[in-house]
Amino acid sequence: MTAGYVGRFAPSPTGPLHAGSLVAALASWLDARAHAGRWLVRIEDVDRPRCVGGADTLILQQLASCGLLPDAPPWWQSQRDAAYARALDGLVARGLAYPCGCTRRDIDAALAARGVPHARFAERPYPGTCRDGLHGKPPRAWRLRTADDAAPLHWTDRRLGPRSQHVALEVGDVVLRRADGLWAYQLAVVVDDAAQGVTHVVRGEDLADNTPRQIVLQQALGVATPRYLHTPLVLGDDGAKLSKQNGASALDLADPLAALRAAAHVLGLPEVRGGPGTTLADWLAGAVPAWAGMMRTPNP
Ligand code: GLU
Repeated sequence: MTAGYVGRFAPSPTGPLHAGSLVAALASWLDARAHAGRWLVRIEDVDRPRCVGGADTLILQQLASCGLLPDAPPWWQSQRDAAYARALDGLVARGLAYPCGCTRRDIDAALAARGVPHARFAERPYPGTCRDGLHGKPPRAWRLRTADDAAPLHWTDRRLGPRSQHVALEVGDVVLRRADGLWAYQLAVVVDDAAQGVTHVVRGEDLADNTPRQIVLQQALGVATPRYLHTPLVLGDDGAKLSKQNGASALDLADPLAALRAAAHVLGLPEVRGGPGTTLADWLAGAVPAWAGMMRTPNP
């Protein structure tokens, strides 16, 4: 039992839940229950062009049919503009955020001029061009002014162990508000985790690399850093993270127990006892102590 534990599942409504997203949903629910904590659901619909109409309702129905019911009404990030604007304004007032007029092409050119090779899918650290002003360009995005003398950031993931990243060198000044006017995922997630009092983040391993930049932003905003646990990914036929693009199909609501069992297998959960007549509720009740036992074993 952890006093005041608050966990959350934060799906982007870009489509229905699939086998991969259920793993993160189940893990975050199990961890909250194993800590006798609260479990929240937040619909992350800030990236509106990528959202699919009705996917939010469908996701909530899918969770409910798996017996994963939030302890409070869900939040929608599309209703949180005022909170994100307040956070950005506060950073601007303290000199910790600045407008940036760079296009992608400007960034590539500045990096090339510094001899940084251009790797197509690699992260391109922002070279800091607009830190000292817009150089006559119109403002496009807003960025966080990351302390460039900072040492690498060390953090410990509950499954992956100790990790580190030098955010200033490897990422550069994080985008808080995008050139298209939309709030950046990093800002929305950090503001909302803090506003909802989230103490434990449990989510897919594809997001592990975002954690250090979220911690840097938490420090700039003066909010607490939750504990993090990143869950194994389900891979598609092409070896990449399962997604709509590589064949993930929506969960089969006709057999939620089978879907939960498959997700538990990905998590490495020990077999939950219960023969043929096992109900969903029985299985979930048995899965909570199985999770608690597994988490007591260091890095299985
Ligand atoms: N909305 C993000 C996603 O669906 C997850 C964000 C998070 O858990 O921090 O990939």
